[in-house]
Amino acid sequence: MDYKALADYLFPDVKDTPEDIEARFPERDLPAGANVTRIGPSPTGFVHLGNLYNAIIGERIAHQSQGVFYLRIEDTDNKREVEGAVETVINAMDYFGVHFDEGATAEGDNGKYGPYRQRQRRDIYHVFAKLLTERGLAYPCFMTAEEIEAVREQQTANKENPGVYGKYAKCRDLGLDEVKANISAGKEWVLRFRGQETGETIAVEDAIRGKLEMPRNNMDFVLLKSDGIPTYHFAHVIDDHFMRSTHVIRGEEWISSLPMHVELFSTFGWKQPVYCHTATLMKMDGESKRKLSKRKDPELALAYYQQEGISRDAVWEFLLTLLNSNYEEWRIANPGADYHEFPYTLEKMSVSGALVDLDKMRDISKNVICRMTAEQVRDGWLEWCSEYNKDFADLIKKYPERTLAALNVGRGGEKPRRDIETWKQACDFMSFYYDETFRVTDPMPAECDEATVKDFFGRYLATYDHSDDSAAWFGKVKAITEEMGFAVKPKDYKKNPDQYRGSIVHITNMLRTALTGHANAPDIWEVSHVLGEEITRRRLEAFV
Ligand code: GLU
Repeated sequence: MDYKALADYLFPDVKDTPEDIEARFPERDLPAGANVTRIGPSPTGFVHLGNLYNAIIGERIAHQSQGVFYLRIEDTDNKREVEGAVETVINAMDYFGVHFDEGATAEGDNGKYGPYRQRQRRDIYHVFAKLLTERGLAYPCFMTAEEIEAVREQQTANKENPGVYGKYAKCRDLGLDEVKANISAGKEWVLRFRGQETGETIAVEDAIRGKLEMPRNNMDFVLLKSDGIPTYHFAHVIDDHFMRSTHVIRGEEWISSLPMHVELFSTFGWKQPVYCHTATLMKMDGESKRKLSKRKDPELALAYYQQEGISRDAVWEFLLTLLNSNYEEWRIANPGADYHEFPYTLEKMSVSGALVDLDKMRDISKNVICRMTAEQVRDGWLEWCSEYNKDFADLIKKYPERTLAALNVGRGGEKPRRDIETWKQACDFMSFYYDETFRVTDPMPAECDEATVKDFFGRYLATYDHSDDSAAWFGKVKAITEEMGFAVKPKDYKKNPDQYRGSIVHITNMLRTALTGHANAPDIWEVSHVLGEEITRRRLEAFV
């Protein structure tokens, strides 16, 4: 077989040589030890938590080493592509604070190693498809889907490995004339790699999992599909070589394809990147763990966290706890530090499935938000409201000072209040600070009937002086408590419940409920001063 003639016949448009491509994408000029990483999402319109999980790893190991982190759009599967999906990926990553040094952007490409959209790299793939054909290592295959299915059935019956290989690869040895005749007759073809049956094993040192040993590839796997677009396997090898990736961070579902990738790297004589196969995201379902599912679990979508208003910092911190077993320890030792300061390492990655626990994420979110300044909370919350709750965004803008003062209640100090969990929940929690959203939702304490409530607020308002400091204010509350036959010390009431009508807890609960709508709320004196005298009086008068 004249492989050169076959290659020229199959790839008449290829002008560049492999050397031209090597020269176009030279080794990167980076400090020693700098890592070059990427994410390669497919533009399906669905950006999942796993994309961010892998992005954080890539971003960290690139930027911790003065390297480069880039975005490549893996759009070889046109059946799955949806309009605007590239922008969706870019916006989602941007929202979650993942910044790329180069790659696909909404405006086009940024960087010298592009194009960064695989569909635009066709010419590059074809140079190497032609090279393999010339070397007799790739050939056109005309097998139909039905023929492949029939082979599979036969293999299943014989208890053999499924796939196109060895004697099952029907088109391996077609002559040039047969190939030409088939193509002239309009038969569709794919380009297959010519696998070898050697019985050897390969070993790959995975940076997360350690040594992976598996049988060497013997499959005649597809390099180019019938439309001339490469498969993931071929595109991955060409792209990560020419974009000079040092590390390939991807989900563990790719481990089984590793023999094909290793085969291609070694066939071309290229250095393999360091593979990092990450654990699948799981969740607890009753007593057992299972894979997060796109259909069943809204929390698999990155958009879910945006809609729920879980701050980007909380999502990062949560993922860092999954990514590195020592993150939580570091956080306790460095409560005020920015999480970017955490020295992330691949060695501390867990291999078993990473458990996505929303309660834990919400708890982390509370900690993240309680450590922020009031201004930071306002900014994050307003940004979210501007997108998801426009009415609330208007309130924040209408009452800027009150909002900041409210956000400052219980903030700072050793034990800041952990009232706000998410931006969405902040709208509930903060609603009592604005008349527009204020509602009394909790009942008055059972110990206080209607007459008692009336009596209490009458007395309270009679001596209320908005200029009292907190101590003077509390002195008056205690005096009224006593006058009305309630115990000033809750434990006195506990000991002798018959001697009192209730305790100061019930008195202050009445105040909290009237002022905020809830029995459980921040400090009454502080809240009154955020609301101002007019609103405070009006809310209490409603109960007289
Ligand atoms: N397009 C692949 C995916 O979405 C990317 C895998 C990789 O990063 O190599 O799974």
